[in-house]
Amino acid sequence: MPRKLAAGNWKMNGLGAALAEVTALAERCPSPKAEVLICPPATLLSRLSAAAEGSPIATGGQDCHTATSGAHTGDISPAMLVDAGASYVILGHSERRADHGESDATVAAKTHAAWNAGLTAIVCVGETEAQREAGETLGVIQSQIASSVPDGATAASTVIAYEPVWAIGTGKVPTLKQIAEVHDALRGQLNERFGSEGNEIRLLYGGSVKAKNAAEIFAVSNVDGALVGGASLTAEDFGPIVEAL
Ligand code: 13P
Repeated sequence: MPRKLAAGNWKMNGLGAALAEVTALAERCPSPKAEVLICPPATLLSRLSAAAEGSPIATGGQDCHTATSGAHTGDISPAMLVDAGASYVILGHSERRADHGESDATVAAKTHAAWNAGLTAIVCVGETEAQREAGETLGVIQSQIASSVPDGATAASTVIAYEPVWAIGTGKVPTLKQIAEVHDALRGQLNERFGSEGNEIRLLYGGSVKAKNAAEIFAVSNVDGALVGGASLTAEDFGPIVEAL
C-alpha cells in the first residue's frame, strides 16, 4: 500500500496571501508519515508549487479538460497542470458534477487524459442525502466507480475519494460504521475489478473532516487518508489532520 494521503482541496478559495499557509504547514510538518497534497485554485498552482518546492507537500489541480490544448475557453489541460508543478488532479468532485453537469463518462475521459499526462487522478464519488435515505448508497457509489474509473487503474495512477454529498461543508459526518461499510464495499469492488492492484488503490474519506474527528476516521478499515475542504485552508487546521495520519 502506498503511503496514506492527506489531501487538501482549497476549492475556490485562496489569494496570494494564502501561500504563507503552505510555508507554515511545511514548517509544522517537516517529515509527515503521510503524503501531503494541496490542490489550490488554478491561479495559485504555479506559485504554490514553487513555495512547496523542497518540502514534502505535493500540489494538484481541481479539474482538467480531456484535451492537451485547443479552443476551450476557460479550461485547463492536464499538461498545463503538470507544467504548473502538479502531480495530482481531483476529478468528478460532486461540486463539478452538480455545477457543471459532469457525468461519469466525462469523469472517466478526464481521468484517462490525466493519466496520459502523468498525473495521479483522485476520482470522487458520493451519494446525496436523498439517495442515502432511500437506501441507495452502495448502489450509487458502486455505479459511479464502475463508470468513472477507467480500466487499467493502478495504485500509482488513481486514488478514490468517497465524499457523501450531504457531509461536505455541513459539519455532518457519517458514523464510523457507515464509513466502514462504504469503504469495505469499495475495496471489494476494486479487488474484483483490478485484482491485487485494486487492493493498493488508496481510498480517501472526505466530508467535514476536522482535527477533532480525523484520528477516529483514519482508524476505520480501508480508510487510507482524507480529502479535506474547509479544514485544509490553514496550517493551523490542516497540520493536526496531517499529523493524525
Ligand atoms: P469539507 O471538508 O469542507 O466538508 O469539504 C470536503 C470536500 O468536498 C473536499 O473535496
